[in-house]
Amino acid sequence: MTLLNDTNDPALKSWVASANEVGCDFPIQNLPFGVFRRAGSDEAYRGGVAIGDQILDLSAAVAGGLLSSAAAKACEEPTLNTLMSLGRPAWSDLRAQLSAVLREGGRQETGAACLVPMADAEMTVPAKIGDYTDFYSSINHATNVGKMFRPDNPLLPNYKYVPIAYHGRSSSIRISGTPTKRPMGQLKAPDAEMPVFAACKRLDYETELGVYVGPGTALGTTVPLEKAEDHIFGMCILNDWSSRDIQTWEYQPLGPFLAKNFSSTISPWVVTLEALAPYRQEVYSRPDSDPAPLPYLTSKDHEASGGLDIRLDVAVATEAMRKNGLAPQTIGTPEFKNMYWTIFQMFTHHTSNGCDFNPGDFYGTGTISGTGADECGSILEVCKGGKAPIDFPGGETRTFLEDGDEVIMRAWCEAESKPRIGFGDCRSLITPANG
Ligand code: MN
Repeated sequence: MTLLNDTNDPALKSWVASANEVGCDFPIQNLPFGVFRRAGSDEAYRGGVAIGDQILDLSAAVAGGLLSSAAAKACEEPTLNTLMSLGRPAWSDLRAQLSAVLREGGRQETGAACLVPMADAEMTVPAKIGDYTDFYSSINHATNVGKMFRPDNPLLPNYKYVPIAYHGRSSSIRISGTPTKRPMGQLKAPDAEMPVFAACKRLDYETELGVYVGPGTALGTTVPLEKAEDHIFGMCILNDWSSRDIQTWEYQPLGPFLAKNFSSTISPWVVTLEALAPYRQEVYSRPDSDPAPLPYLTSKDHEASGGLDIRLDVAVATEAMRKNGLAPQTIGTPEFKNMYWTIFQMFTHHTSNGCDFNPGDFYGTGTISGTGADECGSILEVCKGGKAPIDFPGGETRTFLEDGDEVIMRAWCEAESKPRIGFGDCRSLITPANG
C-alpha cells in the first residue's frame, strides 16, 4: 500500500509564496512536523509545520480555529510523542486539514497570523526519544568498512539474512546546529603495545536517515511486515558521529559503545511517510546469487513498494573555508534506494523477538553508501581509512575531521512529474576535546 492522495498532487500551490519557489524543501506537498519556539525567548516549545521559509504554529492554529482535531491539539505539547501515538488515520486527517488551510484559496487571512519565520525560530529534538537503535543496512557501507577492519572477511555470513543493528544511546541525540565535541577515549595505534587515553584522532560522520516510531507495540508481540508502516510516523536526517580509533579498539566482542554515543545529530523536521508516498518504489534488487530474505522479512507488496527513493548530500566546510567565504564542499552523494534492508524490514525484524516499542522511539538506517567513490556516507570510506586524503578549496586536505570543521547533510526526493520535497539541513560544528 502506498499512501498517495490529493495532498501529494504536484500541481498544488500554497498562499505562502516561498513554498512555491523551485527547489524549496518545504512545499505544500511536504508538511513536515517539528518542535520550535521563538529564538531567545522563554516561550514553551510547541509543534509546528514547515511551509516555505515559515512555520505554521499549530498552537496558534488551534487557538485561531483553523484546526480542531485531537491530532492538532496534540501538537500543542512540547514533544510530538502524543501525535505519534495516535496512528495513521489521525495523521492523515491532520495532513488533509493542513493542506486545505495552506493551499491557494485556503485560510490565508487567519493562517498568516499563525506563521513564524524559520529565521526567527529555534528548533529542538521533536520527540522524547525513549530508545534508539542504529542499523547497518547498506551492504556497500558494510562491505567497504568490513574490508578495512577484516580484509580477508569483509561481509560476515549473517549480513544477507539479518538486518544488523546495535542499541544506541538516546541521551546524546541533539538537534541540528548543536556543536559536537571531539570525544576522549581509549585509542590504540595498530603498532602500539598499549592503548592511551586521548582525544579521538579519527573523527567521522555517518550519513544516515532516522525513523520515528508511531504507535507502540506491547512486549511479546510481533509486527508482521505488512503492518510495519502503521508504526512508522516519519523520517529525518541523522549524523551518527563516530570515532573510528575508539571503535577499532573497543568494538569486539560486544559492538559499538563509546565510539558512537558521544553525539548524534538529527535534522529538526520529521517528513511523514505520507509525504514520502510518491517516492515509494521496488526494494533494492538483490543479485540472484544472494539468498532470499526469510519469509517474515518479505512479501509481494513489500517487494513492490518497500523501497524509498531519497537522495542525500554530505558536505564539509572547514574553519578556513568559512572565513574565506568558500561554500561547503560536497564529498558524498549516496542514494537511499540502494539500501539492502528497508525501514519496514528493520522494524519488523526489531519486533520479531517480542521487543516492545513506544511512540517516539527512533532508529537509524545505518550509513548510506553506494558503489561509486562519490557515493560514500562516511569519510572513512571516502579517504579509504586515512590513505587517500581529500583536497579542499584553499589548499587544505583531510583524512578525518578536524576541530572547526562543519558537517552539513541534506536529503531530498525529486523525480519528473512528482513534487520535490526536502528534509532541510542536519549540521554540526566540531569543537575541541576536553582539556
Ligand atoms: Mn551508524
